[in-house]
Amino acid sequence: MDARLEAIRDTVLARNPGEAEFHQAVTEVFESLGPVHDRHPEFLEAAILERLCEPERQIIFRVPWTDDEGRVRINRGFRVEFNSALGPYKGGLRFHPSVYLGIVKFLGFEQIFKNALTGMPIGGGKGGSDFDPRGRSDAEVMRFCQSFMTELYRHIGEYTDVPAGDIGVGGREIGYLFGQYKRITNRYESGVLTGKGISWGGSLVRPEATGFGTVIFTQEMLKTRGTSFDGQRVVVSGSGNVAINAVAKAQSLGATVVACSDSSGYIVDPAGIDVALLRQVKEVDRARLKEYSVRRGGVSYVEGGSVWDVDATVALPCATQNELDGDAAAKLVRNGLLAVGEGANMPSTRDAVAVFQDAGVLFGPGKAANAGGVATSALEMQQNASRDSWSFEHTEARLTEIMVGIHHSCAATADEYGDPGNYVLGANIGGFVKVADAMLAQGLI
Ligand code: GLU
Repeated sequence: MDARLEAIRDTVLARNPGEAEFHQAVTEVFESLGPVHDRHPEFLEAAILERLCEPERQIIFRVPWTDDEGRVRINRGFRVEFNSALGPYKGGLRFHPSVYLGIVKFLGFEQIFKNALTGMPIGGGKGGSDFDPRGRSDAEVMRFCQSFMTELYRHIGEYTDVPAGDIGVGGREIGYLFGQYKRITNRYESGVLTGKGISWGGSLVRPEATGFGTVIFTQEMLKTRGTSFDGQRVVVSGSGNVAINAVAKAQSLGATVVACSDSSGYIVDPAGIDVALLRQVKEVDRARLKEYSVRRGGVSYVEGGSVWDVDATVALPCATQNELDGDAAAKLVRNGLLAVGEGANMPSTRDAVAVFQDAGVLFGPGKAANAGGVATSALEMQQNASRDSWSFEHTEARLTEIMVGIHHSCAATADEYGDPGNYVLGANIGGFVKVADAMLAQGLI
């Protein structure tokens, strides 16, 4: 890493002790930014990096609720409003027991660059709670969401901060959150949240957008090697919203997706995953993935194993941060891997990224490859602002155009900085320069 940037990075780490994932995300971005600062010394003079690493505002709050037995439960709520240079803070809410400030800050930091890459007018933010929705009844989830929003509502708004979903927050949770916001504020302010239901201000394609977008980005990478998804053998990790829609899109382009996973294990379905059955098991029945192998013949379920043991030509990590380490990456490479598209945020460790890049594997980092979700959220905001709703075809065409555009700009930036095919460099520099230029123009705030 450039020595000037390393000194700034070390200060950031010292100021934010114990936040390992935030440290990792900052380090990974800083490693790309040396050449930009050679060309733009004004960014250093204006302390752009120091300001970027200090969130504009961080909100932490108590979320009390009662479970179905009438017992009082307490969780912690977060919203980190990281950077508003390009637009209102934008980013999802994650409900998962692992959530703490370091996770929210890593996600919020990534979101700044991701959102910039979409070309849409959205800043970066993220939030969530250590609430675990697994095993909770609808009524418990509703009471939790209502309590969460009873504090959050005062901090958000369509011109201020626009949350959406992430792990553990889908259409059901957004519904309860929106209802409570509307009730407290007495405003039908559609643009305050995205990921809404289609009949009450949501956008078609938003549920599919992250998974679809990841596959579209990966398809663009494959084209640079004269190939495509057609005939590829694909492994996807996860079995949530992003994973399911990545499976669907990859198979619609002629690939065979042979495996996916959850936190208990993975399935191998050599004939290609049955998307309708996967949706039924995971989204309708809210069951474990193992259930898929019970209901479909010819499928093996491996308890506790790593899905990256399954050989593939394309890997799409769509589960969570740091789910794919250096050893798993080396195994995938030995098994003939051609490309990786990250549907999750920071799923590959820094070791894994190094293994992929050294082996010449096409590697699309999450902040570029999974930007389709938030980009379609911005399209939902556009529809809300104009009180309009677009067709599936039109919205999907916009998503495709945006993902192809992100691929093009990452590739062009990597070329410009003398490292063709390095999408990590292209994404980090491309996103950073847009935000840094806007911050310079807006003065010292
Ligand atoms: N949570 C998603 C992400 O990581 C989507 C955020 C949004 O739509 O605002 O980008």
